[in-house]
Amino acid sequence: MAGFSRPHPHSHRLDRPCTGGSHAMSATTSHTMPAMQPLRPETSLRFACRPGVICFNECCRELDLALFPYDVLRLRRALGISSGEFMKKYVLVTQEDGQVFPICRLSMVDDGRASCVFVRREGCSVYADRPAACRAYPVGRGASFRGDGSLSERLVLLQERHCHGFAENCERSVAAYLEAQGLSEYNRFNDALLRLHQHPRVLDGSFVPTERQLHRYVLALYDLDRFRRLPGRAAIQMATRQEALPDKDEELLLLAIDWLVRDFFGP
Ligand code: SF4
Ligand code: SF4
Repeated sequence: MAGFSRPHPHSHRLDRPCTGGSHAMSATTSHTMPAMQPLRPETSLRFACRPGVICFNECCRELDLALFPYDVLRLRRALGISSGEFMKKYVLVTQEDGQVFPICRLSMVDDGRASCVFVRREGCSVYADRPAACRAYPVGRGASFRGDGSLSERLVLLQERHCHGFAENCERSVAAYLEAQGLSEYNRFNDALLRLHQHPRVLDGSFVPTERQLHRYVLALYDLDRFRRLPGRAAIQMATRQEALPDKDEELLLLAIDWLVRDFFGP
């Protein structure tokens, strides 16, 4: 969604100090809000996260991690479970004051430290498929449409006192860091959501979704297996001018976004 989220951290299974790092979006209770410093892609970033750092895994606790639909797609595929099972087991859906659309958060473990359900002693157990916020940390990324319809990207450095990654001897540009985290693929799907989240009717406050539309939002974006089997899929195909719903989840997610835009705001 638009705006910056507070990441969290950390990494895993990194043997090479310059290759890791992760974190998640969050707004936690025990960590103070990080200082946010605007960044440019060419800005030099001194940072690395690896198992040997004194704070290893600390950033995967007491965090508030909002998931994008593509995060769920990747995680549930990595775990080999259905999207419905993933949502039931790992996701808390909330509708919050001031938010037009529901927020899907990764549920935390009740271990007294609110640890991420995927963190292990040796690091992130889903590292290859970790959420976008975990990848970008300590960089926060916000995207929006300009008046001419082009995409504008804002980057900030989220520097938290508990994170010792800034003391590591590893320096490269912000762009190179984000590229190394495999973020561009995630950005492709997350930015596609701007058509929903930054639709003029959302921005001017005139769009107030019905209960049915809120339900459709979560179903179509986060539970692709059920979306694919919907009894009303013929209507979805017609609305999106598709002869059949795509087999590939990535294509289905983009179609789901297209369908929701048409369903909510008209053709
Ligand atoms: S260095 Fe920072 S990102 Fe890495 S584990 Fe420590 S707190 Fe988390
Ligand atoms: S998904 Fe992985 S990187 Fe992200 S918070 Fe959980 S354990 Fe940490």
